[in-house]
Amino acid sequence: MAERTQSGGCLCGAVRYHTSARLRDVVACHCSQCQKTHGNFAAYTAVETADLMFDEERGLAWFASSDKAARGFCRECGASLFWHPSFASYTAVAAGTLDQPTGLRLVRHIFTADKPDWYEIGDGLEQVAQSQYGNS
Ligand SMILES: [Zn+2]
Repeated sequence: MAERTQSGGCLCGAVRYHTSARLRDVVACHCSQCQKTHGNFAAYTAVETADLMFDEERGLAWFASSDKAARGFCRECGASLFWHPSFASYTAVAAGTLDQPTGLRLVRHIFTADKPDWYEIGDGLEQVAQSQYGNS
């Protein structure tokens, strides 16, 4: 089977990335940090950091959102793109920044204990109150 390259980027194009590695299916994170940085819950796929290649990164900046993770964003258009834990070898990629089609599926909700009061989760997928790593 031929390798498929998946690409993506921010709103303005100052961050463009691609990978030929298989992306994880999408997890929706309802934690308070994702709410603040994305404006609502976040949907993330993930890939091994070594397999994430940049075609354009002049806009890419990182915010240390905790002592164990940093969030990558575009300093030109403000897009939230990445979540990178210091304790693991992968980078979470905001699924909305992927070019279509993705071939991915939403499979799980995490940090549902932090979910705000203005929406309900009604899709029948697995819900995890926290996650194995903690809010970061
Ligand atoms: Zn941008």
